[in-house]
Amino acid sequence: MTYKTIEKGAVDAACVMQDYQLEYQKFHWEQAEQALAGLPEGGLNIAFEAVDRHLNTDVAEKAALTFLSRNSTDIEHSLTYQQLAEQSSRFASALQQMGLKPGDRVYCLAGRIPELFITALGTLKFGGVFSPLFSAFGPEPIRSRLEIGQASVLVTTEKLYQKKLATWLLELDFLKHCLVVTEPEHTAPAGTESFHTLLQQGDPGYQCHPTRPEDPALLHFTSGTTGKPKGALHVHQAVVAHRMTAQFALDLRQDDIYWCTADPGWVTGTSYGILAPLTLGATLIIDPADFDAERWYSILQDRGVTVWYTAPTAIRMLMKYGTELPQQVDLTALRHMASVGEPLNPEAVVWGTKALGKPFHDNWWQTETGGIMIANYPCLPIKPGSMGKPMPGITAAIARRTDAGIEWVDAPGEAGELVLKAGWPSMFRSYLHEEARYQKAFQDGWYFTGDLAQFDEEGYFWFVGRADDVIKSSGHLIGPFEVESALMEHPAVAEAGVIGVPDELGGEVVKAFIALKPGYQANEELIREVLGLARKRLGPAVAPKSIEVRDNLPKTRSGKIMRRLLKARELGLPEGDISTMEGNNE
Ligand code: AMP
Repeated sequence: MTYKTIEKGAVDAACVMQDYQLEYQKFHWEQAEQALAGLPEGGLNIAFEAVDRHLNTDVAEKAALTFLSRNSTDIEHSLTYQQLAEQSSRFASALQQMGLKPGDRVYCLAGRIPELFITALGTLKFGGVFSPLFSAFGPEPIRSRLEIGQASVLVTTEKLYQKKLATWLLELDFLKHCLVVTEPEHTAPAGTESFHTLLQQGDPGYQCHPTRPEDPALLHFTSGTTGKPKGALHVHQAVVAHRMTAQFALDLRQDDIYWCTADPGWVTGTSYGILAPLTLGATLIIDPADFDAERWYSILQDRGVTVWYTAPTAIRMLMKYGTELPQQVDLTALRHMASVGEPLNPEAVVWGTKALGKPFHDNWWQTETGGIMIANYPCLPIKPGSMGKPMPGITAAIARRTDAGIEWVDAPGEAGELVLKAGWPSMFRSYLHEEARYQKAFQDGWYFTGDLAQFDEEGYFWFVGRADDVIKSSGHLIGPFEVESALMEHPAVAEAGVIGVPDELGGEVVKAFIALKPGYQANEELIREVLGLARKRLGPAVAPKSIEVRDNLPKTRSGKIMRRLLKARELGLPEGDISTMEGNNE
């Protein structure tokens, strides 16, 4: 079914982008760079742009972060820009007092608590590299990410420490400090230090380290098809894109009440859940609780949210509750709604107009791009199901890689790999310790995104699918190899192949196929045991939802499990080229 184009509404005079075509033609990155303050003595620092630049302005005394209570939509705790500047300076100074050096990596494993924001901004101020971890990860993904990045510091909560880290964390010889956010009356567990004690000892007047635009700032892990997770490294220059994309794609302005529902463990939670909105002086709503449809509508109403950035899985869950709930709340303050992370079904865009009075604006980007690259804008009509058009400053195209060079797809409606002309400010600068893997992502000055897409006659881009075996489940990118490795740890498992299968709510869910070692019998108890092990090791968000036992799994002659074939067979799709399959002698 094709959906009717949603014509643009009246573009409000204060809208940051009034005319897409004009903006796209005249835009230069230098223009976005000039909008930044820069460090007083030269240099560029993301945290300075997010917080300190607002000191001595009208923004200093307004709320930067407002944390909601778990039990109601009341504000439980709020920090002004001035307070956030002081707290993050204290943390930066504490890092200095601990003997850390700029460039050292500070990780955070926590939910949406004030300490996470203070850690992120303080680390950046100190010149350290901030790396968030998803709090629903099990010990295995946490450990591998700490190891790859050789974390110097980990900030976490008492609860997460006891549940996931206590038995092994302190063995890591590279980890110098574990800082634990404890209940006020508790002391930090043995071998760790109290986050708040150190914070109190820090200097609230600490001046931002003179970082340069190309100094490393953020480390985000993402999953590939093979091998370990990839550590995508971003630099301070990324803030040029953070700020500008939030203006153009989210229409974000200083007087906005902004709510980003992304988990802080993933890149959206940092780029648009912390940094970009602060650079614009907006007020952020932070909800520590999990999804709950009624609560979410109440937050939109009670907190007067004006710009809302959310994700398809959440929108699909809201859709399940129908249009009655949103009709009981007053959403007149809400001006702009955007979505990211996975394909946004056209029905969801249209549902927005019916249930909430406005459409969701889909946009596309990924960990490696550091910021929004393709978007629907308030000043353009929306074609439901399309990701929109490239951001000003971004050249997107559809291409195929060949040994002879890039083969361009010039015809509308023809699928190929989505590529971006390299060189935008928030482009990742390396995959940590994996230069060859990094180089492989580029060809002739273009970055190959790993996504298949197509464009139409009017220059709108449409997502087609992933070019690799990576799984997107409820917005989380999951590497099949990481899951397979955990399954193989069970003594009964001889082989494992993991795929994503379509799911109405989560987009995809993880399904595993295993073959057993001789002497083991497939039965429900064994499957439950393997599933249990995977959940314990990986955490419920990453572990398979179901496991099927096969006598053997399809493999290439070189012994690689053919996930693509497993998936085709599971979904009844054409099997494609199976000439390389082991045992196929046709
Ligand atoms: P991550 O690096 O975890 O942010 O995941 C990035 C991947 O999520 C992209 O490469 C896409 O496969 C998918 N993705 C993100 N946004 C969209 C979107 N608007 N439509 C379709 N897929 C998306």
